[in-house]
Amino acid sequence: MIVPKNIYCIGRNYAEHASELGNEIPNQPLLFSKPTHAYVETSNQIINLPTNQGEIHHEIEIVLHIQQIVKKGDLVEDVVSHMALGLDLTLRDVQTELKKKGHPWLRAKGFKNSAIVTPFWIFEGTNDCYKHDFSFVINDKIVQVGNIKNMLFPFQTIVDECQESFGLGNGDLIFTGTPKGVGPLRSGDRCQMYWGNELRGSFIVA
Ligand code: ZN
Repeated sequence: MIVPKNIYCIGRNYAEHASELGNEIPNQPLLFSKPTHAYVETSNQIINLPTNQGEIHHEIEIVLHIQQIVKKGDLVEDVVSHMALGLDLTLRDVQTELKKKGHPWLRAKGFKNSAIVTPFWIFEGTNDCYKHDFSFVINDKIVQVGNIKNMLFPFQTIVDECQESFGLGNGDLIFTGTPKGVGPLRSGDRCQMYWGNELRGSFIVA
């Protein structure tokens, strides 16, 4: 179990996901963050989520764990120690209202348990990630499949941008964006996250 420090997230990093929500494709990484209280590690447990604020959408993403102070020019392979899969849960109706008002996304993206993450494993490098699709399964049905080949901004660009704009150090996590196929979670849903064919984490929605 890791203790996250900062939790950074990239929005609209897969073109087909940006367009499924009617958003333009960004010309620089769209960044936001979550409070650390959003973080919960999967252990096949029941997880409580908000029940009275409209739809909660799943967004499965690759999560990178930073192991050291990152300096300009450092390579992803040298600063990322572990990776995981995670859900960047989103109160979609709340987010739509916030967007209309031009308000920050925190209430839509930063609620408790909004960052559900599998146990971490050792990061084998960016090239290894191309060999694995990642997927999210609800009640035995595959609802999202992604591969980093479809990312608009690769890991290195994201790390550079976070380092440059905010600082990156030991214990920081980066959610690297979700592929298409986002949709609602419902009470009682049995949820699983897969790296290739390997089940990495599971939980049940309360
Ligand atoms: Zn996301």
